Amino acid sequence: MSKSLQAIRGMNDILPEQTPLWRYFEGTVARLLDNYGYRQIRMPIVEFTELFKRSIGEVTDIVEKEMYTFDDRNGDSLTLRPEGTAACVRAVLEHGITGGGQVQKLWYVGPMFRHERPQKGRYRQFHQIGLEVFNLEGPDIDAELIVMTWRLWGELGLRDAVKLELNSLGTSESRGRYREALVEFLSAHLDKLDEDSQRRLKTNPLRVLDTKNAETQAILADAPKMADYLDDESRAHFEGLKARLDAVGIPYVINPKLVRGLDYYSKTVFEWVTDKLGAQGTVCAGGRYDGLVEQMGGKPTPGVGFAMGIERLVLMLEALDKVPEELSRQVDVYLCAFGEAAELAALSLSERIRDQLPNLRLQINAGAGSFKSQFKKADKSGALYALILGDDELAQQVVGFKPLRGQGEQQSIAWDALAAHLATCVVQG
Ligand code: ATP
Ligand code: MG
Repeated sequence: MSKSLQAIRGMNDILPEQTPLWRYFEGTVARLLDNYGYRQIRMPIVEFTELFKRSIGEVTDIVEKEMYTFDDRNGDSLTLRPEGTAACVRAVLEHGITGGGQVQKLWYVGPMFRHERPQKGRYRQFHQIGLEVFNLEGPDIDAELIVMTWRLWGELGLRDAVKLELNSLGTSESRGRYREALVEFLSAHLDKLDEDSQRRLKTNPLRVLDTKNAETQAILADAPKMADYLDDESRAHFEGLKARLDAVGIPYVINPKLVRGLDYYSKTVFEWVTDKLGAQGTVCAGGRYDGLVEQMGGKPTPGVGFAMGIERLVLMLEALDKVPEELSRQVDVYLCAFGEAAELAALSLSERIRDQLPNLRLQINAGAGSFKSQFKKADKSGALYALILGDDELAQQVVGFKPLRGQGEQQSIAWDALAAHLATCVVQG
């Protein structure tokens, strides 16, 4: 196939074999968020470029080199969203739904776009489920976010495979004082820093803490720590969060180098990381951004949120063999009809059954085929039972009811009794 007719590098089709796991994951998260009282919001995928520059920060990896930016036909500069927080803040401001201190607990799901080097767990179109909470400023809500994700890992069977890393970035004032101390320290070691870090030292010094370069990391071991520069309020907030996590029994490690790649964070930042995915170890990341709404033209409004990468979590479920068994079966009952008259009857019979059992996953064999080939298809579908409807069954208004997974002998069941019989032997989700 010519290259221009293939999918774009780093942008993937999610094939029918994979979608059950995606739907299971997304469904599990959606149900959890519903239960905690979060409401879904849906934003456009494209926004004005300025929105991301203003919110994420000009000197960040995303804005400097990862955005898909293009001119609209009228000359406006637009960008495919690289993350969800900016658009969500824009939306709540535009609709005035956080005005007057109204609390909003919102979540969203969808594709994000970043021009990165594609590799396992890192793509150019990827998917996130994210959430944002507005107008709650205490550590209790930071804790709720983490407690919810902890519950999610529990439901998914991933608790043993993830680790929570925490840090506090303080207020912008205390961060400013820390930045000065860090710059002073790093400047004294300038010649030993990697090239990227030398550049960041001038543009966005906190990001040096994020370096993957081993020599720079060694130097950083003696660097000043943000924790020593925290203002009292941020310190109390952080202690409040830790006390809550301790109370629920969620293990964490403090990572003083955790700064996150976006400029808008303040106070709490956290990441759930795993060693099961190689280099792409962060599966969920977030933090508090109390200054962002104001920075985007709104009234001062505390905010906190996180986003998780669906691809990475799906990869983890697969790698750790945590894909629920029942996902491999998408059909409960497979109806095989033989002959024109029986085919007609099969359609109306199956519609009657669907009326009575709306959750039954019933597939009718489409198109004629020999007895043998139809059975093969029924078996391959994963169905628990095959229903057989030929001329004889039609004459007697019955179906042959054949267990396909070794649950007993074939029997004959009257049409009128079929739905009730199915209800007893197929567990419906
Ligand atoms: P990383 O350090 O891995 O680049 P990030 O800090 O850039 O991650 P965030 O912007 O915090 O990531 O996004 C939240 C989550 O979205 C990440 O933890 C990850 O699970 C997922 N994610 C981010 N970028 C990608 C990508 N290019 N491909 C797949 N998933 C991604
Ligand atoms: Mg990144």
